[in-house]
Amino acid sequence: MSKKTIEDIAVSGKKVLVRCDFNVPLDGETITDETRITAALPTIQYLLKNKARVILCSHLGRPKGEFKAEFSLAPVAKRLSALLGQEVKLASDVIGESAKGLAASLKDGEVMMLENVRFHKEEEKNDEGFSKALASLADVYVNDAFGTAHRAHASTEGVARFLPAVAGYLIGKELSVMGKALEDPIRPFVAILGGKKVSDKIGVINNLLEKVDSILIGGAMSYTFSVAQGGKIGKSLLEADKVELAASLIKKAQEKGVKLLLPVDTVCADDFSNDANISVHEAGRIPDELEGLDIGPKTIELFAAEIARAKTIIWNGPMGVFELPNFAIGTIGVAKAMAANEGAVTIIGGGDSAAAVEQLGFAGKMSHISTGGGASLEFLEGIELPGVAALNDK
Ligand code: AMP
Repeated sequence: MSKKTIEDIAVSGKKVLVRCDFNVPLDGETITDETRITAALPTIQYLLKNKARVILCSHLGRPKGEFKAEFSLAPVAKRLSALLGQEVKLASDVIGESAKGLAASLKDGEVMMLENVRFHKEEEKNDEGFSKALASLADVYVNDAFGTAHRAHASTEGVARFLPAVAGYLIGKELSVMGKALEDPIRPFVAILGGKKVSDKIGVINNLLEKVDSILIGGAMSYTFSVAQGGKIGKSLLEADKVELAASLIKKAQEKGVKLLLPVDTVCADDFSNDANISVHEAGRIPDELEGLDIGPKTIELFAAEIARAKTIIWNGPMGVFELPNFAIGTIGVAKAMAANEGAVTIIGGGDSAAAVEQLGFAGKMSHISTGGGASLEFLEGIELPGVAALNDK
């Protein structure tokens, strides 16, 4: 990465505005998954140890531009205080008197948090005045919110125009692990893509076809590829307007010498429910009245064998409707195969696949689990993330 990081600048005695991704899931005031908070700790601890005056900011949920108590960052400030072993003072506003007062009275090695930046509609509009007001609170800006780095918002992009702007450790790690995989992978390099829509993943498939040795496609999007090959998919999800595109991606893979593996069998159901009657059918031969909801056992074997041979593996998107236990078996199979390949660099591209890996207890077995689903997808597409582009070059 050619962007400056917190280690490239002096922070002692400086007011440092740090954009984190504290968009954690909440049940009332209880944080049900604190991964995003712990992921931000290395940067915060480094700054405190080096006597910076730390001003944290983040969004949480979708309060739609106005103060709403249920979207307050108070639970995060409280949990972070416990994790850091020191008080994190929470301002009652974002750029108002409370924020300004607390920021002005911060001492070296102290930390505070602004309220939810999305309490202002100007945040998502990347409003210049709001960006300037945020910038005026601090001397330096650090972006460590990988999960929102693909958004050009005031606290992720706009503010960087008005302060020296550098990357935190989390963004640095995300970019270096995924960047290395894309630019200089240890081969064989295998990508596994799943999820619902081909349309969401076209850019990723296109870009990865230039880089990988094999690409494995599961999930609902595989049915559009099946139709492109003349298959019958019953009531399975289809993006009819993407069939030609799927055919062209299959052709591109052939031209590039990339092995594109599609499911060979499909777990089908007579209803979209966990209690549905289940049967396994050859891919492309799904009876009219049935719907494919997972990859079948032969496909799991085929994919697992390809994964076992790989030295770099990137995975984004579930292989089936993993929210229903009876159709989570393909997704579990991929997670297990990746976890078993201990010698490989294993990267989970955030979102549903990250949640699945964590639920299954395989998180510790992966080299890297991205904290940003959307951001990692755009990165894999080869798009420059605005929240990264805005940072100062080395
Ligand atoms: P995405 O957001 O594109 O990664 O898609 C994730 C969603 O795709 C999950 O909610 C899965 O339940 C869904 N999904 C995966 N496979 C299938 C399938 N065969 N049929 C219907 N939905 C699926």
